[in-house]
Parts: sequence; C-alpha cells; structure tokens
Amino acid sequence: MFNLGHSMRAWALTGLLFTPFLNASPWEQKSAPSQHAPDAIGSYANGCLTGAASLPLDGQGYQVLRSQRERYYGHPDAVSFVERLANLAQQQLATHILIGDMSLPQGGRFSSGHSSHQTGLDIDIWLKLADDKLSAQQLSQPEPLSMVNLQQYRLLKSNWDHRHFELVKMAAQDQQVARIFVHPVIKEKLCATEGQGDRQWLRKVRPWWGHHYHMHVRLKCPQGSSSCQPQAAPPAGDGCGAELASWKPQPKPAAPKAATSKPKKKKPKALPSQCVKLLEIKDS
Ligand SMILES: [Zn+2]
Repeated sequence: MFNLGHSMRAWALTGLLFTPFLNASPWEQKSAPSQHAPDAIGSYANGCLTGAASLPLDGQGYQVLRSQRERYYGHPDAVSFVERLANLAQQQLATHILIGDMSLPQGGRFSSGHSSHQTGLDIDIWLKLADDKLSAQQLSQPEPLSMVNLQQYRLLKSNWDHRHFELVKMAAQDQQVARIFVHPVIKEKLCATEGQGDRQWLRKVRPWWGHHYHMHVRLKCPQGSSSCQPQAAPPAGDGCGAELASWKPQPKPAAPKAATSKPKKKKPKALPSQCVKLLEIKDS
C-alpha cells in the first residue's frame, strides 16, 4: 500500500515543504506540541499553534472521537472551553458531548477535512449526543447523526431534541466563543425556538453548509496572543431574517448561462513567519 506518512517525510527531508499538492501537510508530521508558551498565531485558516494543550481522552462529560488522528490538541483556552461545556452538558442535559476535530499538536493545515482549525481555536462538536458512553470501537469509527434532510432542506425532527437547542445556546453564551457554525436549517430551528427571549446569542450562530451533524465552535483570539488575527464580528442582529432566508436553495433557472470565464485560482496566502520557523524545527 502507498505509504503517505513516509512520502510526506521524504518531501520534508528534501526541503519541499511548500509543495503545490494541497493534500500533503507537513503539520501532520509534528507529533507533539512545541516547547513554547501557548500562542495562537495567524488566522483560523492560515496559522499555527505553539504550546498546545491536549484534551484529556478520559475527561468528564465528553468523549473524543477518532483520537487515532491526533486532532485533539488546542490552545489551552480551547481545552478549558470543552471541559466547561462538557460539565454543563453532563449536569444540565444528562449526556456526554462528542468532540470531533480540534487541532494538530502544532496547529496548521490538515491534509483532509477543513481549511480552518489551524490556530487551536476551532472545535467540532457532534450533534449526536452520547447518553451512554460510546465504546472504543464506536469512538474510533463513529457514525454521524445528521439533523437535516439535505435534499428537502428541512430538519430531521426525529433526530433533533430540545437538548440540541440548549447545547448550542450554552456554547454561544460562553464568553470565549466568537462564532458557531451550523447548517442554515439548524439555525432556522434555533431562531424559531428562542421566541421573544434573549436573542443576543443567536448573533454568534452562523449558517454554513456542511454543519448538519456537528457544530463548529470558534473561539476568540486568546489574551496575550498578539499575532492572532481575529475575524470581524458577525453582522448586528440575530441573523434570523433575510440573511438566513437567502441560504435557502432557489429553483434553478431553466437555461443556465454558460460560464464565460475560467474561475480564477486563488493564490495560497503566505504562512505567518512564526509558523514557517516552527516548521523548520525538527522533532526529536
Ligand atoms: Zn470544523
């Protein structure tokens, strides 16, 4: 079988760290956090992480999915956030939350999955709730539980329960949280459920495709991380009106126009210099 790990090491050794092959990530060769103070460097989708903490695999109120991929590292703020939310989930919702991807030991780009999660501040939390803890086998090869019928663009009511609303709300009300991404159909449900109460938290909950079986929590830049690039605050208001409606797929026009120009290829952004230096440090 083709050995990807070996071939990536070979690239690294020949100095071809910035290969045009987006699939390869030298960050996956980093097997442990760096020996620096905790620092989230760069932007969520182009950065790295020093002094990472690892989320304990045997914590209270949560379980870690696919730990074999070693994506359970984060800025210490992210680890405390997960522990905080898991405690609330256990006490108030009588369940365990399932933690998906966080970050690699030194952050940076994954070879598969998503382009963010690079600075130790992004956390995927599955919407499948583990009332009974999952077995080791279920954790290593988990089956997602979707909340949305994607073809019909509607909530799967049989999979959704009120605790999902409570869980997203608890996360959004956390001071450290900047944004939470969920599928637009899920945001619609949250908007409808909140009614006339405090709708402030809904502002942080942002619609985005793909997030129908997990929510993606994004934390604010930590205090003291001076090279961390924050994202602009979400637009004012709860985001439940016209903006949300604009996500709903429209019927396709009868005669679609042929594309007139080739889509431009985006030039990859330069990695922050601290991250380049981090890549140059050889692991022992
Ligand atoms: Zn994510």
